[in-house]
Amino acid sequence: MKLVNLAVAAALVAALGPLPAGAAGVERLYVLDCGHISAKDQSRWSPGVNVGVPIELSDNCYLIHHAQGWLLWDTGLPDALAARPDGVDAVNGVLHMTRPKTLAGELQALGVKPSDVKAVAISHTHPDHIGNVEAFPQAMLYVQKAEYEWPSENGTPRFNPDHPVTKLEGDYDVFGDGSVMIISTPGHTPGHQSLLVRLPKTGAVLLSGDAVHFRDNWDNRRVPGFNVSKEQTLASMQHIADILAKEHAQLWINHDKPQSDAQKKSPEFYE
Ligand SMILES: [Zn+2]
Repeated sequence: MKLVNLAVAAALVAALGPLPAGAAGVERLYVLDCGHISAKDQSRWSPGVNVGVPIELSDNCYLIHHAQGWLLWDTGLPDALAARPDGVDAVNGVLHMTRPKTLAGELQALGVKPSDVKAVAISHTHPDHIGNVEAFPQAMLYVQKAEYEWPSENGTPRFNPDHPVTKLEGDYDVFGDGSVMIISTPGHTPGHQSLLVRLPKTGAVLLSGDAVHFRDNWDNRRVPGFNVSKEQTLASMQHIADILAKEHAQLWINHDKPQSDAQKKSPEFYE
């Protein structure tokens, strides 16, 4: 049995980098409410399926405490949206977005100052994920080079060029102990990435980003029509499925509202 475990561990080290020795440095994971999105037609994400059926989506941020400091994964819709209680329409009224709480307020409630956040990693550059990156001007930004350099529609840079950044080309071990791994999962956008967090009590959790938007699409491997590459998206979903199997990990799908509603929300946390 031990030999089998050792073999599995060796395979994991080969695939994902070093495993944590003993207790991992990662201590807590908070799920933060970073906005709500309602859509009139869910087939935007599931071409030809559930046409004209509305859907409610969660939009979460995840705050991780590691012995080396705080890491924020995704930043949600802009905090300024909270000043508009009725929300705003987007994509010509296809989407409606609200933000009942601000990220700043949620951090404050935890006693975390923006300057305490040492690192911000984002899954990709859609507006519901990068709305508050500049609230952490000193934090190291971890983003794939392919995403950072992806030309925007109006030609402006996707990030403030003065923001400290580490441009990644593939997977990355954020704290060097295997406890928090950025996993390259392109397809939704050119440099999309997901996050594997190996929590000491909860076990491994894979934060999807938008590699998939909700459970039914995961179960049926459906790819939104607006993704930049269907082939890459399907390959990334398979890559995620392989990691889930190896790690016995849970898949936490950022925009899946039923799953999100069932999770503990900050100030509660996962260990
Ligand atoms: Zn997206």
